[in-house]
Amino acid sequence: MTDLGDRAAELDAADPLAALRERFVLGPEIAYLDGNSLGRPLVVTAEALARFTREEWGGRLIRGWDETWVALPTDLGDRLGAVLLGAAPGQTIVGDSTSVLLYKLARAAVDAAAPERDEIVLSDDDFPTDRYLLEGIAAETGRTLRWIPTDHAGGVSADQAAAALGPRTALVVLSHVTYRSGFLADAAAITRLAHDAGAPVLWDLCHSVGSVPVDLDGWGADLAVGCTYKYLGGGPGSPAFAYVAARHHGVLRQPIQGWFGRRDPFAMAAGYEPAAGIRQFLSGTPPVLATVPLQVGLDLYAEAGIEAVRAKSVALTEFAVAAADAHGLEVASPRDPGRRGGHVTLRHPDARALVAALWERGVIPDFRAPDGIRVGLAPLSTSFAEVAAGFEVLRDLTPTS
Ligand SMILES: *Cc1c(COP(=O)(O)O)cnc(C)c1O
Repeated sequence: MTDLGDRAAELDAADPLAALRERFVLGPEIAYLDGNSLGRPLVVTAEALARFTREEWGGRLIRGWDETWVALPTDLGDRLGAVLLGAAPGQTIVGDSTSVLLYKLARAAVDAAAPERDEIVLSDDDFPTDRYLLEGIAAETGRTLRWIPTDHAGGVSADQAAAALGPRTALVVLSHVTYRSGFLADAAAITRLAHDAGAPVLWDLCHSVGSVPVDLDGWGADLAVGCTYKYLGGGPGSPAFAYVAARHHGVLRQPIQGWFGRRDPFAMAAGYEPAAGIRQFLSGTPPVLATVPLQVGLDLYAEAGIEAVRAKSVALTEFAVAAADAHGLEVASPRDPGRRGGHVTLRHPDARALVAALWERGVIPDFRAPDGIRVGLAPLSTSFAEVAAGFEVLRDLTPTS
């Protein structure tokens, strides 16, 4: 065994969460390093889906709506809030996609801003859907985008955010952990700065939920969205979540006013009136079936605890950074683990070809244009041995002269 393999064996032996990896469906890959794009399923997910089909859908049929499904977007939102988001009940819903929820919340916030607040502040390196949606909202509402220039290997610092904020700010939208570098933003500080400038913040939690602790109520957050198919095991296309702090209910008005967001939807009455509380941010029939894997995933997070998950995540990213350093590979992620989420990006001029070659050999990271090899380290389903095996293949493909 190599040095890297020896060190990995020690770390796996000392990992209190190591046994949980066996709960996942583990394929023949040498190393799955993309669990931050699409997490592995849990073994129990297949049975949970079958049971739901048999007992709830098949067994309860239309009665299921009254019995559990109508309340599911908020019941599951509350559970997510308690287990992973630091959100008190009544502020989180599950449903729609991240893109749709981001649109709904951002549009509601911009519409509520005073007309002289004509700027939407965002990062020029945020995830594409965030940038595109805000371009659309700016065009629809006659606002301007204020782009924060962002280092591809870093993210938006509190100082950079402060410099972009002012009396013209309508809304700030930022990722808590950036999709490219894994930079972990100081959400509490940036939220405070935005509030000092009189503006709300919408946090995109896609890459942080399930890898780093989130404390929405503690930050004094206004709005947040995130997806559930990355770390949370929701499966391809699983529904997203949205958080709206209670103080904004009845003040913000979301733009997709469907029947599920109406007061007493089954009255089927004339005219739209928003429901009370967080339900006013729903639109249509919730994707009940698609929440089954997420429910099972949350059970595992409740068992493991996010602090233990974060500790393992830091150890995994430290291990990956050390492996990259030892082989002279350029790390394009923060070196301070306190400013880094659950993934590490390497920069290499042949990144595209290397990722293709890695995939052929059963090592599955992500390619991120133009030159990034993104190594995702889902803490509950990734072993140190797996990371070592992946880096050994990468080393073979990138001999040092
Ligand atoms: C993955 C991701 C999304 C995904 O949005 P979808 O609507 O689920 O496609 C959005 N924002 C960020 C930051 C992401 O990482």
